[in-house]
Amino acid sequence: MILFLIVFLCLPLAAQDAPKRSVAFTYDDLPNGGAQLPLDQLTAMTTKLVDSLRQAKIPAIGFVNESKLDVEGERPQRIALLQQWLNAGFPLGNHTYSHPDINKVPMLSYQEDILKGEQVISGLMKEHGQTLSWFRHPFTHTGNTEQARETLEGFLQRKGYRIAPFTVETSDYMFALIYRNALEKGDQAAATRIRTAYVDYTERMFGWFERLSQDTLGYELPQILLIHANQLNADALPGLTAMLGRRGYSFVSLEKAMKDEAYRRRDGYVGDSGPSWLHRWAIAANKPSRLRDEPDPPSWVVELYREQSK
Ligand SMILES: [Zn+2]
Repeated sequence: MILFLIVFLCLPLAAQDAPKRSVAFTYDDLPNGGAQLPLDQLTAMTTKLVDSLRQAKIPAIGFVNESKLDVEGERPQRIALLQQWLNAGFPLGNHTYSHPDINKVPMLSYQEDILKGEQVISGLMKEHGQTLSWFRHPFTHTGNTEQARETLEGFLQRKGYRIAPFTVETSDYMFALIYRNALEKGDQAAATRIRTAYVDYTERMFGWFERLSQDTLGYELPQILLIHANQLNADALPGLTAMLGRRGYSFVSLEKAMKDEAYRRRDGYVGDSGPSWLHRWAIAANKPSRLRDEPDPPSWVVELYREQSK
């Protein structure tokens, strides 16, 4: 009886204490981020990632570089990979044709690259009763002068695009490269170690950006996670979702996350890098910059990445 009472009294408290957090998963560089996989591995990776997301009922969106479709003799198969995302209910966004850096190419050629990047996906979206509307800047570089940023924003608006921001990223490309190399060597122990470190580091980054959200906005906004379509994320998805579930997260679409009023705030950042929108809003609100305080990935991961990406 006493035990029953304790359980009864604690239940509402526990439910009340569970933070109501949400996150939108956004995948960049479709069909495949980082070093390019051969078609058979790319197909297996896409199938695993898309099926796992669908089975776990996680809304997602994929940002495409159409240059990666242009492989001789493989174009139909590569377009079919994008169809897999759409068939599973996940919209596609434009991430430019060839992933140029706005800080390094002339504005006009950047804009041409955006238009070249919608040739296939706008039709695919239409076939699925949707309109292409999301754009994400490569490297999330939005322009290193006020003028460049405004010119580009005006262009995107005229073409009917909404900019997809992000709030959390995890340097997943570093983990992904050394993970793939471990798998290629057949070193399962190393692969497991890297995957575990990746989930742990992702948790640290969520904790850090949850606090930055509190400090900047006074509450935790629906987060937007930026990661890449790669084997690591296909394999680590159960670990990531279990970790986020423990932290009280539910999974929402980009569209839904962006209904939060924070996403109507002004982006105050003009510069060479592509920081989280939480930093950008902090800068706009004249709060001290925390750009340099983000936790780094484990040093052994950074070292392996440096060695292997030479
Ligand atoms: Zn990218």
